[in-house]
Amino acid sequence: MLLERMQASDAEFIECCQQAGLIGTSQSCPSGCGAMRLVCCTAGAGGGGGHWKCLGCGAYRALGTGTWIYETSPLLGLKPAVLTLYFWTWGYPVVAVCHEAEAPPSLVVPLYARCSRVCSDYFRNEVSNVGGPGESVELVRFETPGGLIVLGGMELRSKMNPVFFRVLPARPSRDDVISAIVDNVASGTTIHCGKDIMETLGLVGTDYLQKMWKLYLEPKQNESALIKSTWEEYEVSLPPGTSPRYTPKSLDEFLFRKRMAASRDPFLYFLAIVSTIYPAV
Ligand SMILES: [Zn+2]
Repeated sequence: MLLERMQASDAEFIECCQQAGLIGTSQSCPSGCGAMRLVCCTAGAGGGGGHWKCLGCGAYRALGTGTWIYETSPLLGLKPAVLTLYFWTWGYPVVAVCHEAEAPPSLVVPLYARCSRVCSDYFRNEVSNVGGPGESVELVRFETPGGLIVLGGMELRSKMNPVFFRVLPARPSRDDVISAIVDNVASGTTIHCGKDIMETLGLVGTDYLQKMWKLYLEPKQNESALIKSTWEEYEVSLPPGTSPRYTPKSLDEFLFRKRMAASRDPFLYFLAIVSTIYPAV
């Protein structure tokens, strides 16, 4: 485990970060000499010290070059950075992170905020899609107490019950519903939904989804209450007095944290998502 390796030598820790996909396993010299060599330096500020060195021309590159951590907080050492990700996963306040990581807020806060943006990037990425070949997804359209029209979907058989939501315009068109579906449901899925959604899609819509996206729609009469209750859970999770109640950012983070919490190891889940969306180069 990455965190346990925090106490190990820098070389071991760096190797662990490479295995988790947080930093690259190779780096080419910008001058074109070829592969650079990873040099560890325990004296490095902030811990987890090291850099890439070109054996040809002697050029140096920072250890985190090409990673999203480095792009966000280039001056934060690798160990404090990993601690920051860990504390974000568990929802600790930034002050606690600064204390534990022994790093100033000016370096920690940007990375902490960047972690929250991972949630939105995740839902914009195909990796977040629910369903898949042979899987079923239930789709429900409902109105929230605040008057929002929401399309919600949930994978039926999965233990994690991953959910997605898309807030639709007041009078959703066929295209609004189609894009909400194809943006969130993986190709090959059978979609169970009520008559209201079927009517908005019409034959044209259902044919299109089947031919272009291999999404098969089947009418369903009894909808499960779990999707709507998940939305209620989201509204309850917002701090009192929050206005407006719904923002895309807070919804993305709520849904992301829910999927993370349902996984066996939330921190590893987070690292796996990060290395998938932003592969280290
Ligand atoms: Zn070189």
